[in-house]
Amino acid sequence: MKKTGGAFSGTPKGFAKRGCRRAFPDCWNLKSRETRNKTAPRKGKVMQMESEVLRLEHIMQKYQAPNGEITAIQDVSFSVKEGEFVSLVGPSGCGKSTLLSIVAGLIPATSGELTLYRHPVCGNSPEIGYMLQKDNLLDWRSIYKNVTLGLELRGMMTQENIDYVLELLNTYGLYEFKDKYPSQLSGGMRQRAALIRTLAIRPKLLLLDEAFSALDYQTRLAVTDDVYRILKNEHKTALIVTHDIPESISMSDRVVVLSNRPSTVRRIVPITFGLEDRTPLKCREQPEFSRYFNEIWKELDVHV
Ligand code: ADP
Ligand code: MG
Repeated sequence: MKKTGGAFSGTPKGFAKRGCRRAFPDCWNLKSRETRNKTAPRKGKVMQMESEVLRLEHIMQKYQAPNGEITAIQDVSFSVKEGEFVSLVGPSGCGKSTLLSIVAGLIPATSGELTLYRHPVCGNSPEIGYMLQKDNLLDWRSIYKNVTLGLELRGMMTQENIDYVLELLNTYGLYEFKDKYPSQLSGGMRQRAALIRTLAIRPKLLLLDEAFSALDYQTRLAVTDDVYRILKNEHKTALIVTHDIPESISMSDRVVVLSNRPSTVRRIVPITFGLEDRTPLKCREQPEFSRYFNEIWKELDVHV
């Protein structure tokens, strides 16, 4: 039996006026949103950029394992400012995912201090969105029903929030696919849908844990570019875990290099490119790119 399009099947009030751009799913542009963002007060924006979103102070994490206690994280401190993209790189098993779980409020740190907008983090906050390697889209729900799932679960299905989701679908080339099912979308489109589902609850800080590592290399480059542009365009702050040094350089303003377990911060490498309109793909073509790579590689304890 053919499935129907779910709760939403028509054009919502006010949405038709803006017009539904013909979707070129892998070639959307950001013009409408960029134009809208120009109206934001400039002074406020600069002040916001300078404010601190996240601070980790001497975070330590121990786990109880069957053969005794494991210290996963010894001592990690760093902060993330509004609008900044910070990557965490480090050897496998050094505690990167553990750190993200602590920041997301999913597990409490054994010791140390963690603040979000200068308030202690306690439990899962709606200001934080989490994006994982798997898109976790539900096969039996349409794209629209998938991207509104978080709103539904949190009891936030207001007209304003629904309009925001539809606008995101439109801006990022998925509006015409809203009644399709995940199996009918490409890997890149599925990842974009997963991102829109995360953005729907309007988090300020996005946590990405190896979010692109399940994709093949070419798709991964394109999706990284996509996600970077969407997050920048939506003025988000991001903390990105990756084991891929080029990915960390291409996406971040700073790279936090962690040591082997039990992890400490070996170095924080600021990344700047003289690009007016920075994108991960453009960064990869810059002469400074290989210098940053060597700098980070030197700090990583990689033994084969
Ligand atoms: P990474 O993401 O850097 O690969 P993880 O944060 O997943 O590392 O894990 C760090 C260390 O903590 C690993 O040695 C892992 O085996 C251990 N660890 C992670 N979760 C648990 C757990 N729930 N119980 C016991 N040990 C754990
Ligand atoms: Mg991990």
